[in-house]
Amino acid sequence: MRIAVGGIVHETNTYAVASTGLTAIDSFLRLTGDGIADFFTGTGTGIGGILAGCEAAGHEPVLTAYAAAEPSGTITAEAYAEVKGALIEALVAAMPIDAVALELHGAGVAEGVDDVEADLGAAIRQVVGAAVPVAAVLDLHGNVTPAMAEVFDLLLGCHLYPHTDLDDRGREAITLLEEVHAGRLRPVMHVEQLPILLPTSTTDGDSPAAAANRVCAEIELPDGVIDCTLMHGFPFTDIPEVGTSIIVIANGDRALARGAATEAAAWMWEHREDFRCEHETPELAVRRAAAASARPVVINETSDNPGGGSPGDGTHLLRAMIEARLENSCFAFISDPEVVAAAIAAGVGRTIEVKLGGKHDDLHGAPIAVNAVVRSITDGRFMLQAMMRGYQLDLGPTCRLQVEGIDVVITSKPWQTIDAEIFLFHGIDVTRANVIGLKSSNHFRAGFRDIAAEIITADSPGLTTNRVEVFDHTRARRPLWPIDQSATYTPSLVGPDNFD
Ligand SMILES: [Zn+2]
Repeated sequence: MRIAVGGIVHETNTYAVASTGLTAIDSFLRLTGDGIADFFTGTGTGIGGILAGCEAAGHEPVLTAYAAAEPSGTITAEAYAEVKGALIEALVAAMPIDAVALELHGAGVAEGVDDVEADLGAAIRQVVGAAVPVAAVLDLHGNVTPAMAEVFDLLLGCHLYPHTDLDDRGREAITLLEEVHAGRLRPVMHVEQLPILLPTSTTDGDSPAAAANRVCAEIELPDGVIDCTLMHGFPFTDIPEVGTSIIVIANGDRALARGAATEAAAWMWEHREDFRCEHETPELAVRRAAAASARPVVINETSDNPGGGSPGDGTHLLRAMIEARLENSCFAFISDPEVVAAAIAAGVGRTIEVKLGGKHDDLHGAPIAVNAVVRSITDGRFMLQAMMRGYQLDLGPTCRLQVEGIDVVITSKPWQTIDAEIFLFHGIDVTRANVIGLKSSNHFRAGFRDIAAEIITADSPGLTTNRVEVFDHTRARRPLWPIDQSATYTPSLVGPDNFD
């Protein structure tokens, strides 16, 4: 089979516009043709899995165009037009093809386009026609809509958070496209939306999201049900169709798909209170970590997670660690190019006086005035080893500053800390630390779950706080749990995907 491969990936935090502005074209990594394979082959990503699936089955991947930006504010109309135009143009050039396999996110919002994925799917459908199957791997944080189910044949959300199964879903997309091509599978999809703004919820261990995944896995068992996926949704987006949903794919049987999706949705609704979370303030988290008997303790600052669109220079947790006078501890990282430049200008071994972080807004904490010793400087290029393993990250120049008993890594670009590589890169062995501070909501668990004696989540004010009620959802369809007590779930009986 000739399978067109490409994607547009953006998780849009519409509230981030106030701090970091709209997302313009220069924020996007853009790849075309062989550049896509060069970048993604062998990586734990959706595209990595799609390419591996093609390779394993002997299909020809026709590489089109790929664009991705880190989670951030609404995409400008111009940027969206450009990345969409590039993908459509490459797809036109790739014709004729037997199938399309894409990596998307599911929570993309552009100026004037609330549902980027449905808009893109409709444009792709115009090019390839109704007969060519189109599959997309999604991040489980996608706000999925029935409009998406109308234009795609297969929407495959990852099941795990940390997202360590994106490549598995990419391989599965290829397997299912083969089945469709061979006439053995006629996929019909039902998207069942729930009035839920789910706080970020790991699927690790004995979590409620792991229990939900087990329910979905059981719902997949009967003949004819191909897939049942819980899409957590992305609560930091103010659009009408924000929220949690269930996607079910069945083989030709719409009633079966709808029934299975409503069954999973009813379970989610019944168990929604299990997902409510009460996290510690940074001060309490640090106090608990300092008193812990087993080391190291990881404190994750969930509320300033650049992986959800926050600026990544928040200071609430680091300030609490410094004020508690922690010894033998480390923190990675705060994004602050000015401080990195000052460290480079001074050189390793010198002491610098800087104001660290807190430069985007007041929400994430004020800058911290420190006298710090420059311990190391790097180019910020290293490879991820846990989630998205094999992915080459480039954080720009980075430095390690010694601030009393705490080693602090500073980068030029924001990102979340998802494994220990950034510490190792600066000569820090986290297994010897008392307390490890980092910015991430859950992805870090893949890299730290085997290292940490204990994980404590700190939730300070921030654009990715788990207190989803602090955001003004003025455009969302209300009522929504947990912000409206009057929220109720009524299983859908009819919908646009119920017609053959
Ligand atoms: Zn995600």
